Amino acid sequence: MTFSLDQAGRQAWEWLEAASTFSETRDIAREGVTRQCATREHRDVLEALTGWMEALGMSVRLDNAANLIGRHASGTPGARTLLVGSHQDTVPNGGKYDGMMGVILPLALIKYLQEYDIALPFHIDVVAFSDEEGTRFSSTLLGSKVLAGTFEPEMLKATDDEGVTLESALKAFGCDPARIPEDRYRPEEVIAFLEAHIEQGPQLEQASLPVGVVSAITGIERHQITVRGMAGHAGTVPMSLRRDALVGAAEVIRHVDALCKGTDDLVGVVGKIENAPNGVNVIPQTTTLSIELRSPRDEVRRRAREQLLEQIRVSLEALDLTFDHAQTYEQSAVQCSPWLTATLEEAVKDSGITPRVLFSGAGHDGLAMADLCDISMLFLRCREGVSHHPSEAIEPEDLTAAVEVLAHACQRLARRQPQA
Ligand SMILES: [Zn+2]
Repeated sequence: MTFSLDQAGRQAWEWLEAASTFSETRDIAREGVTRQCATREHRDVLEALTGWMEALGMSVRLDNAANLIGRHASGTPGARTLLVGSHQDTVPNGGKYDGMMGVILPLALIKYLQEYDIALPFHIDVVAFSDEEGTRFSSTLLGSKVLAGTFEPEMLKATDDEGVTLESALKAFGCDPARIPEDRYRPEEVIAFLEAHIEQGPQLEQASLPVGVVSAITGIERHQITVRGMAGHAGTVPMSLRRDALVGAAEVIRHVDALCKGTDDLVGVVGKIENAPNGVNVIPQTTTLSIELRSPRDEVRRRAREQLLEQIRVSLEALDLTFDHAQTYEQSAVQCSPWLTATLEEAVKDSGITPRVLFSGAGHDGLAMADLCDISMLFLRCREGVSHHPSEAIEPEDLTAAVEVLAHACQRLARRQPQA
């Protein structure tokens, strides 16, 4: 009995269940999965992955940034490498699928390719990136920056809540941080980087599609606005004379919401607000807000920012309020490679699924890998768009569909590669 696509999907499901047990939390259903970089749980999950990879005949190594890399080698002389994978780490009390699914699916794919004797003219390197979420060391995209050669040694000084540096945590994990520069891939040896990930949004579920192809990974910018008014007695200052900072802040929130709702490919939020003096009977004097804008198109995001700041200026002036503004973060959008995205779309069609192209509103390892090579992503439908939460869920059949799409994508990529 040959190993069918259904069995590949079921195998992926079983591996994912097993991987989820390597967690700081005990009750996975209630508390979710917590697995941070260079911890015991990280070591344990890599041990399990190593076992599964070796059983598939893959050669496995741990690099100096605690990335685990398993190679499914091609017999073609001078073969280049298709990089696939995702991150092993989770947010605190995260789900079973964000990250780990992108490590496990390629293993199910390789098992399938082997069962059907499908030889490829390129190596497949499956990477379990050590740290993408950056929860422990605020070191977002650590693993992928190392492979892309953009890792800054300065990052090694970052500390966790206990004061442990990234450098010492990596050493304790058996890595040699001084040799991290040796772990980068050379662009000429890599074909592309492909990541499978849950969508973390509701679009595929609403369209009743198991998978979708990603066109771009969002750009992000963040701002801090401090609105300044005048504190006063909440009972004695006449309404007409008030300079209420929180009323101004409400205008800011309304502008962000309205602008994003009225602009295609733009989302935004005021996620954090601090009000002072923050008393029940005191007119607010200063209110500080965060603003975050995201778009897959940088020009849309920048235009929105200018419009927004102008709207804020006009509204606050009308309320006789002043404000300070500082931009605190900016990350440009990364476009997925058009040829790779087109290849994935064709592979989706090959699998009998209507292709749907969408952009990623969340950051991913591809943001860093794009400095090394062409990238693209395959999204899998997740229940109600929920992620970073214990109730994160996928349908087992979608894993089967994803393995099929990846198999078709590999065959299409093989046809593009020079044969030996
Ligand atoms: Zn993720």
